[in-house]
Amino acid sequence: MCDEVRLAEKAGKKSGRPAATIFSKVIERSLPADIIYEDDKCLAFRDISPQAPVHFLVIPKMLIPRISEAKDDDAELLGHLLVVAKKVAKQEALTEGYRVVINDGKHGAQSVYHLHLHVLGGRQMTWPPG
Ligand code: AMP
Repeated sequence: MCDEVRLAEKAGKKSGRPAATIFSKVIERSLPADIIYEDDKCLAFRDISPQAPVHFLVIPKMLIPRISEAKDDDAELLGHLLVVAKKVAKQEALTEGYRVVINDGKHGAQSVYHLHLHVLGGRQMTWPPG
């Protein structure tokens, strides 16, 4: 992790606000990403390390660090993210189905603390996940 990100995390914690992550830079366009959908509430872009032929992320523009920290009032936004995941999956021609995943916290193997939906498709998925 670079010093800048470490400092931003510290600053966020100190002020009681959630810490900005690399995804804030994608939203601000200060970090390049392959953005495939955008509206006033969210953004979808291709994962930098794809785990399937199609692998994109849907993120809210508002910073919710993780699904377990979402508030009841976020229900409309959370629903919107799912609707966008569905729309973009159609745009990506995932006609045979796909998987939508949200990793939360340590046991969920979350690495970026800005809520995101993974949408994976273009190959047969297996179950259970690792
Ligand atoms: P998670 O482990 O659920 O927190 O997923 C974070 C995802 O973000 C991983 O699949 C990473 O490959 C992806 N990722 C990290 N940095 C970037 C980036 N700059 N652009 C696109 N995807 C990224």
